[in-house]
Amino acid sequence: MRIAVASGKGGTGKTTVATNLAYLAAQAGRTVVYADCDVEEPNGHLFLKPTIERESSIDRLLPVVDHQRCTLCGRCSEVCRFSAIACVGQSVLVFGELCHSCGGCQLACPEQAIGEAPHSVGRLRLGASGSVRFVDGMLNVGEAMSPPAIRAVKAALPTDADLAILDCPPGTSCPVIESVRGADLLLLVTEPTPFGLNDLGLAVEMARALRLPFGIVVNRADAGDREVWEYCRRQGIAILAEIPDDRAVAEAYSRGELAAVAVPRFQERVAGLLAKVSSDRLLENRGVA
Ligand code: SF4
Ligand code: SF4
Repeated sequence: MRIAVASGKGGTGKTTVATNLAYLAAQAGRTVVYADCDVEEPNGHLFLKPTIERESSIDRLLPVVDHQRCTLCGRCSEVCRFSAIACVGQSVLVFGELCHSCGGCQLACPEQAIGEAPHSVGRLRLGASGSVRFVDGMLNVGEAMSPPAIRAVKAALPTDADLAILDCPPGTSCPVIESVRGADLLLLVTEPTPFGLNDLGLAVEMARALRLPFGIVVNRADAGDREVWEYCRRQGIAILAEIPDDRAVAEAYSRGELAAVAVPRFQERVAGLLAKVSSDRLLENRGVA
């Protein structure tokens, strides 16, 4: 089972939920992998403190033009939907940060003047935190495109784990869609504030467009207004857990500790969520109760 933990905005407690779910599932005897897909700012390792066993470069292929063969016909720039290759004066330039590595220009070149070369976009790390297996990716500074790194993290998930927890980037843009695609269940973590509700609405639209089963976790549930509950009631969306605002959890977070270890009452909340997400009935809910 693959559970993606996401949120419409940053700072809602998504990593806290993801890391503690993974920890408690492992404590319950499940074979668990935690995967940090938030490759622009991975921080699950701060709480799980894994021992890293393997590390490798994440590469993607970029076009390389053989200027001896190139006749400057311009066909490559015509076919590129992303304006990532262009004939400029007497040369063909490749703009790597725009390139989606689709290979279209290579196929279109009548002179076979375009090859490919690997370009490192980040680092992939695999390890373990106790009995939780661990995967994360970290995008290189200055790299604009995170989906290749997210795909590398997902491709590295061990196939024998019976539960994979994917800690997704915040928002609803391409990196999030890449992260949640293929999940069996999407947990949307929100907070009861106007900003939280607005971004939750966007995340719900995304989940419905992707036809993913999903449910809501309200973090700091007693700290704001009741609009999130009203919205979920109107929309027929299941709230799977309510986690109260708790200074002890915030203090554990600031020390880089797992709240499930440091704060027993928090452990009870997440254990209840784990029981709910393990239910087959949830998988049948594609967003409309
Ligand atoms: S399609 Fe090939 S030959 Fe034509 S401009 Fe591009 S690289 Fe040069
Ligand atoms: S590989 Fe695709 S995206 Fe990249 S330059 Fe060629 S056509 Fe454009």
